Amino acid sequence: MAIRVGIPRALLYYRFYPLWKTFFTELGAEVIVSEPTTQEIFRKGLKKFIGDTCLPMKLVFGHVITLADKVDYLFIPRLVSIEKDTYLCPHFAGLPDVLRAIMPDLPPILDTYFNVRKKGVTMRSIYEAGKRFDKNPRRIYLAYQKAQEVYKKFLERIRDGITPQEAIQAFDGEEVPPVKERKERLNIALVGNPYTVYDPFSSLNIIQKLRKLEARIYTSEMIPDETIEEGIRALSKRIYWTFGKETVGAAFHYLDSKEIDGLIYIISFECGPDSLLKEIVDDKARKNKKVAYMSLVIDEHTGETGIDTRLDAFVEMIKRRRRSKKMEGEKNGK
Ligand code: SF4
Repeated sequence: MAIRVGIPRALLYYRFYPLWKTFFTELGAEVIVSEPTTQEIFRKGLKKFIGDTCLPMKLVFGHVITLADKVDYLFIPRLVSIEKDTYLCPHFAGLPDVLRAIMPDLPPILDTYFNVRKKGVTMRSIYEAGKRFDKNPRRIYLAYQKAQEVYKKFLERIRDGITPQEAIQAFDGEEVPPVKERKERLNIALVGNPYTVYDPFSSLNIIQKLRKLEARIYTSEMIPDETIEEGIRALSKRIYWTFGKETVGAAFHYLDSKEIDGLIYIISFECGPDSLLKEIVDDKARKNKKVAYMSLVIDEHTGETGIDTRLDAFVEMIKRRRRSKKMEGEKNGK
């Protein structure tokens, strides 16, 4: 029987799942992902969690608990840095230890260390993770190569205009309607930490709600890294948080874009980096009024009705702006 590896449907699942799944599957393991987040998963996590933290960290506890009796290993990487000039929030590096300390009966945790800022660490970590499944270094290397190829295709799909959530569905063999065939009339960009934006429970299903309001969704993953860098070049200080940089770079890009009608920044209530970055994005949006802007601060107590009302009002405002722009153009004979 294949060794079962559990991946919680939380945190960087929304960024790296196709890469991780391919790597373990190529080495003969069976990958099991926790179910989509529900109120029950959230409650399970909350019961175990000690102290206070952001919603995404509370959620990962619930996902880990639901996986615990179904797998031989849990894959909870110790993530310090996933690109060379930024760091992830420290919660990521400490997560395997926190889980072990609070739930000592969990299956063994594969806490693969990722720090791309340190030379040679990635490959060492890959061998370390792979050797539990196959002792042959060449096969581990080939599995990683294959995983990277698959991951590259996953990123390309997103750049073609589908959301990361849809790209994961496509990777899992589900049908995803091509962007060209969609009849969406408004262009709305969503920015924020990927695990908040793409987990339907955390974001209160914002993507589906906006789609019903005929919006095409644009995200930070759809724009190249250079455009993100370009977006934040004018800031007086560098942003050292990976998703903070991405969020602000994408927000600045979309706020300057002629194609985009509106930008929504989704923020986790107890997120330290988000509370600082919100000021930067708010300031840019205040100065540039061409693109409608709204920030949504979300926590476990946020009600769907309140979000629905705000989204309806936001979309209505965009439609009104479009109508008055059209009338102005007609008046000026354009
Ligand atoms: S960046 Fe914010 S939301 Fe993400 S783990 Fe850290 S505190 Fe939580």
